Amino acid sequence: MKNNLFLGLLVIVLAFSFIGCGDNENHIHNYHIHNYSNWTVTLAATCTNTGTRVRFCSLDSTHIEQETIPIDLNAHNWQSAPTATSPTCTETGNGDQICTYNLTHTKTGTIVPLGHSWGIYTQTTAPTCTDAGTRVRFCSLDSTQ
Ligand SMILES: [Zn+2]
Ligand SMILES: [Zn+2]
Ligand SMILES: [Zn+2]
Repeated sequence: MKNNLFLGLLVIVLAFSFIGCGDNENHIHNYHIHNYSNWTVTLAATCTNTGTRVRFCSLDSTHIEQETIPIDLNAHNWQSAPTATSPTCTETGNGDQICTYNLTHTKTGTIVPLGHSWGIYTQTTAPTCTDAGTRVRFCSLDSTQ
């Protein structure tokens, strides 16, 4: 029984090495200096995950080289954090941001006030020969100003 098992394994090993030889022969037949295209990114690297890219040999389309793109520590996907607020005419907004790839990547910031957005003056009292008139204008962002 033990011998049979050993023979079986040997056959398997031989079969594998035969396939290996075949591959090698093939490679020698098609030997040339690869003429690779430029890399095509198939999956962009992010701050959290590696990406992949491939390139093809123009002399034999079965020659494909694939490579892992290392993690890009600057490739965040910033979104407004839950703590963020919009600025008003005069108040600074909270510009905190959070990375959707990794929620531990955060950065704080502020958003500058928008400044008033004045409309045109409307005359409320017409001037007379003795009194000055009055006119008003409203901020389109906040009509109380
Ligand atoms: Zn090639
Ligand atoms: Zn990130
Ligand atoms: Zn305003």
